[in-house]
Amino acid sequence: MPRERLYLFDTTLRDGAQTNGVDFTLADKLAIAELLDDLGVDYVEAGYPGANPIDTSFFSERRELRGKLTAFGMTRRPGRSASNDPGLVALLEAQADAICFVAKSWDYHVRVALETTEEENLASIRDSVRAAKAKGREVLLDCEHFFDGYKAKPAYALACAQAAYEEGARWVVLCDTNGGALPHEVERIVGEVCKNIPGSHVGIHAHNDTEQAVANSFAAVRAGARQIQGTLNGLGERCGNANLTSIIPTLKLKAEYSDQFDIGVTDEKLHGLTRVSHALDEILNRAPDRHAPYVGESAFATKAGIHASAIVKEPATYEHVAPELVGNRRKLLISDQSGRSNVLAELERIGLAVDRSDHRVMRLLDEVKEREAIGYAYEAADASFELLARRMLGQVPHYFDVEKFDVNVEQRLNAKGERVSVSQAVVKLRVGDEDLISVAEGNGPVNALDVALRKDLGKYQKFITGLELTDYRVRILNGGTQAVTRVLIESADETGEHWTTIGVSSNIIDASFQALMDSIVYKLVKSGAPA
Ligand SMILES: [Zn+2]
Repeated sequence: MPRERLYLFDTTLRDGAQTNGVDFTLADKLAIAELLDDLGVDYVEAGYPGANPIDTSFFSERRELRGKLTAFGMTRRPGRSASNDPGLVALLEAQADAICFVAKSWDYHVRVALETTEEENLASIRDSVRAAKAKGREVLLDCEHFFDGYKAKPAYALACAQAAYEEGARWVVLCDTNGGALPHEVERIVGEVCKNIPGSHVGIHAHNDTEQAVANSFAAVRAGARQIQGTLNGLGERCGNANLTSIIPTLKLKAEYSDQFDIGVTDEKLHGLTRVSHALDEILNRAPDRHAPYVGESAFATKAGIHASAIVKEPATYEHVAPELVGNRRKLLISDQSGRSNVLAELERIGLAVDRSDHRVMRLLDEVKEREAIGYAYEAADASFELLARRMLGQVPHYFDVEKFDVNVEQRLNAKGERVSVSQAVVKLRVGDEDLISVAEGNGPVNALDVALRKDLGKYQKFITGLELTDYRVRILNGGTQAVTRVLIESADETGEHWTTIGVSSNIIDASFQALMDSIVYKLVKSGAPA
């Protein structure tokens, strides 16, 4: 039997951006849109043009995606024509493939929140869908509070959905906006809707307030819906949205769904899911949820005892799916077996040929474990791991020594009487027989240190001219009695390669210094600089 197509609609950048403490920059949004698009979601809802400057500028130019870039906004305001509603006009001008309107579908909200009539709300839905279609956009309608609305007045909730569908909306999306619906209710109500609107045009948008957003999404699919809306890592206000990071592997790996449906995420992209999940956490500067299904560090971890030895013999005995399928790894806390295999796999990936029985593999593993115990995270710092491995194998030349450095922050009044902070760094380096002293100012102590370090590397200077720091992230880890600072630095060079290095210390300058040094040394190794 041919499989049916099921569509994934990601709203990490719109609904997910409502999360407390989440503030995406334009660069963040572009990076995340690319991650999502590469993963293979069908729709990337990137924001609400007109609502804030970042979203407006996101949609002010054409962004090339494989999936459909979607702009979110409201249907026309009651009592106005579509062409006379500035919000709607701005939305129609947005450079997007699709427009997702949100409209009320609960009569109570129409009366109380919108202060208009049921008829006028229906007319607003029709006019808005028609206007967007006329602009050549694919149209979706998010029916806000659909399930509560349906429970209160089924005919009206349905009429809202039908108005959009009859006017030519590609999708009518049933939203559990306050996240209070239960799976059996969702299944029943979506089933009712699908008697009136073909399921191939019905979507589900579930919030997680009873921790059932994923279950509600699957309940809707069982009842006929063919689009799931959600976010990476379940990001979203309050308790979050339906978690696509859990939904995608379930659709791909559970026969009930994989036999029946095709989605845009390939098996190969599924292997990158853990990386994608962690990449979002990195952008948000959050620690990944260790216990996240499929992608969490503990998702395939087994503690000492009979389980672990059984897993070594036959992984399927205790795992519901193979961790590699989602890019995760098995973790046996009892033995070094898996750690050793992981290290060997990493070495192979980097292109370092080492014999399985080489004792240095175990030494490297011990070193990684020791360092991770005090706060290093090599999964997020590929270049620092590679340096650690190469050092263990004696493959990192001794380029230079930093004899000492001094960083100084001074706050004072400038000539205009304004209070300013000035950072200055002095670095004393020894390169071969040469002593080099560099002094630099920066907009902060780490920047000053970075500029001073890279100002004059003597005979190595020519190898690092293309080196650029592209991101700097600090996280305070609460390990034991003392807070520890972890710094991750992302660098890039003239070839377009990006790499991340790490430093950990109780002192933020020391942690930054380690990460800066690793970045420079990595660049020298990569450029083939001679010893
Ligand atoms: Zn929502």
